[in-house]
Amino acid sequence: MSRPELLMPGRMQKNVNDALDAKFTVHRLYDAKDPAALLAEVAPRIQAVAVGGAVDAALIDKLPALEVIASFGVGYDLVDAKYAGTKGIIVTNTPDVLTEEVADTALGLLLMTVRELSASERYLRAGKWPSGNYPLSSSLRDRTVGIVGLGRIGKAIARRLEAFDVKVVYHNRRPADDVSYKYYADLTEMAKEVDTLLSVLPGGASTEKAINRAVLDALGPNGVLINIGRGTVVDEPELIKALQEKRILAAGLDVFEKEPQVPAELIALENVVLLPHVGSASVYTRNAMGQRVIDNLTAWLDGKPPLSPVVETPFTGWKKK
Ligand code: NDP
Repeated sequence: MSRPELLMPGRMQKNVNDALDAKFTVHRLYDAKDPAALLAEVAPRIQAVAVGGAVDAALIDKLPALEVIASFGVGYDLVDAKYAGTKGIIVTNTPDVLTEEVADTALGLLLMTVRELSASERYLRAGKWPSGNYPLSSSLRDRTVGIVGLGRIGKAIARRLEAFDVKVVYHNRRPADDVSYKYYADLTEMAKEVDTLLSVLPGGASTEKAINRAVLDALGPNGVLINIGRGTVVDEPELIKALQEKRILAAGLDVFEKEPQVPAELIALENVVLLPHVGSASVYTRNAMGQRVIDNLTAWLDGKPPLSPVVETPFTGWKKK
């Protein structure tokens, strides 16, 4: 029996490649001399897509036999899941397996930013210590952290902050289950009452530029913004102005509006900590995420329910199986 055919638009990591090569005929667009010609040839036979980046409606329309898109990562804002849903195609993502890692990174970024740990290390490496101690920094001790997006990762961050004895409040569209932290229905209202915002919001239209000038001004001159969710959530030019004009104190960013491009104005600032989207980027966690991609695709092969379909494509059975 011939193997089902799978499209891989971009490079994926070794455990995913090895497992999928054993189960599917994999067509790698990124490796093709002429990707458009390869796509035109294989498109009618493609039943599955494995992807770490974008799958738009135009690509979905080219794949009439498509049943499943297995996306690597919990955020799938680059996959048009809503459109896939209208075609009976299931989109899966990789939640849970990265939650604790991203929460660890968020705490690291928060500490680096508030306590100026990377700036003080730069000071030491520049040989400045013998001429005087590094200036005193801000502190977590007197801060209240407003978590923007208290979902799986947000709750894991909140648990860590509780252990650090830091007060937590949060904003979501709806109050979260099983938490006693104060809830704010309005983000600007929350920003007025806290001095630290930590965003773990997903990308997409509903969150675009949610952290805008009004929110930053409500946060105020002692304010710290940490963003570990998606870059599109923050109005980046307004953030840069707020930092330059010291209308907020500092920012720690793992994600950017047009990553991997990071604005030169941000790089020039001392009161920011900038990470290259490393929230989940450990060998341990990336392997677990890869395994989740494999398990979702294996479920499709076996005619079983996927482990983690996204909300836009609830599983009610595979298209043709
Ligand atoms: P969840 O879906 O569990 O949590 C998302 C939270 O955001 C929910 O509490 C939801 O609550 C809230 N939310 C969603 N939309 C809005 C909105 N428009 N306004 C206000 N609140 C909103 O996801 P995870 O915690 O697992 O992941 C969150 C995001 O973190 C991912 O989507 C991804 O973008 C990002 N991420 C970044 C990583 C990195 O490397 N930096 C790694 C992994 C994830 P409600 O529905 O009630 O509004």
